Amino acid sequence: MVKPKTEEEIALLRENAILVSKTLAEVGKAVAPGVTTARLNEVAETFIRDHGAVPSFLGFEGFPAAICASVNDVVVHGFPSDYALREGDIVTADIGTLYKGYNGDSAYTFPVGEVDPETRKLLDVTKASLYKGIEAAVAGNRTGDIGYAVQSYAESFGFSVVRELEGHGLGKEMHEEPGVPNYGRRGHGCRLVDGMVICIEPMINAGGRGVYLARNGWAVHTADHKNSAHFELTVVVRKGRAEQLSTFDYIEKSTVNF
Ligand code: MG
Ligand code: MG
Repeated sequence: MVKPKTEEEIALLRENAILVSKTLAEVGKAVAPGVTTARLNEVAETFIRDHGAVPSFLGFEGFPAAICASVNDVVVHGFPSDYALREGDIVTADIGTLYKGYNGDSAYTFPVGEVDPETRKLLDVTKASLYKGIEAAVAGNRTGDIGYAVQSYAESFGFSVVRELEGHGLGKEMHEEPGVPNYGRRGHGCRLVDGMVICIEPMINAGGRGVYLARNGWAVHTADHKNSAHFELTVVVRKGRAEQLSTFDYIEKSTVNF
């Protein structure tokens, strides 16, 4: 049985979620052809520290950077590097904060300049599948209802769902129970209760669902090297409708058009 969070804990998680959301927007403003993913990491780390928080990914199980920067066929856990983004690439920034003893965790896949129509569709469908998942994150449902909502939506466009990685509870720890898979069967899995805080994070591939782990032990690539997108938000399970803690509003209201 997963314990729901108290309203005091939720308030602290909300502060983290807003900081992560704003950090994603700062990173988004920096995304452009010619910019290295190491630069995106710098932008995020500076912003997080300037707000009195710590980038929670840095040093987590040995992860070497403040953010995950995953380009094109990298699904998740890419290391920021001196790779300079090119027009037509996509780059996922996955960002975590630790502030007042609680965690923030959200991700967004940015297009670099103009991307081809199929890639644009992958980004739109992956983000929409996340919102489908959030609609299912209500008290009385189960994690399988979230997974079903994400999977059925994404697959209806011919895309595929990565199954090796999943969403999770969030609190004092970056990864708490329950696991929140992006596929599943309605009415199965962990029961959702009011006050439970979870991250929903579909990872959707343009091609097949197969993935492999790079030799560095971190980066997860698509087996067919087609693009993969990843959007993540933190929500509180509530009766009737989930409450979003993190948001893409800062990204989407910024002057840069994503
Ligand atoms: Mg994340
Ligand atoms: Mg996460």
